[in-house]
Amino acid sequence: MRKRKIPQVVVERMAVYLRILNEMDTDEPDRYISSQDLGDLAGVGAAQVRKDLALFGEFGKQGVGYQVRLLQDELKRIMNVDRPINVGIIGVGELGTALARYNLRRSADDKAYPFRMAALFDNNPAKTGRRVESLEIFSAEEVVDKVKEYRIKLMMITVPASAAQTATDLSIKAGIKAILNFAPVKLIVPPQVKLLQSDVSLQLHHLAFYL
Ligand code: ATP
Repeated sequence: MRKRKIPQVVVERMAVYLRILNEMDTDEPDRYISSQDLGDLAGVGAAQVRKDLALFGEFGKQGVGYQVRLLQDELKRIMNVDRPINVGIIGVGELGTALARYNLRRSADDKAYPFRMAALFDNNPAKTGRRVESLEIFSAEEVVDKVKEYRIKLMMITVPASAAQTATDLSIKAGIKAILNFAPVKLIVPPQVKLLQSDVSLQLHHLAFYL
């Protein structure tokens, strides 16, 4: 199955299903969940759940539902979070620092949290060589080397909008295939790179409409 062929909305729902399963007590080996209950918790219909999961395999039993533990393991594998994923951040300003601290705290509190902060990057010489908690801040020129050294697979971009394309190009040059951009600007990436945008100011504008 070619992952690129799976619609993004399905992948988004898969992440929601996995979060629901992670929140359930899975110590009971015989715990099952029906597509109806999983759909209710995810805010979608039972048929949607069955259709989404069927894209990846046969996980359920007719009339019984899905074994929670088994489905959780399968979804972790499908979503690539059955092993730790090393994450980097370019731009160690207010937002980059907050995200680094947030992720460090999440992994300290929850051993199952798959995202491991590995390294930070900034082009301000006053910041390089310093640390955010245990994390060293490297210069932007070191992105290519450090991405390889720390096996960073996912990059978060928290530089100003004017620097975001440069930071993105550098990440791609380093071999990064997945980027989460927080800068309020549209970025250009080649088709083999997956880019998601977390644009807080755009979302606030979106919400303001409903006031
Ligand atoms: P500060 O005032 O401490 O720099 P800030 O959150 O106001 O924080 P921004 O202007 O949003 O800073 O920039 C975020 C960070 O991105 C800063 O630390 C800045 O040095 C860094 N930065 C800017 N351009 C680049 C770049 N091309 N490569 C790497 N880091 C960059």
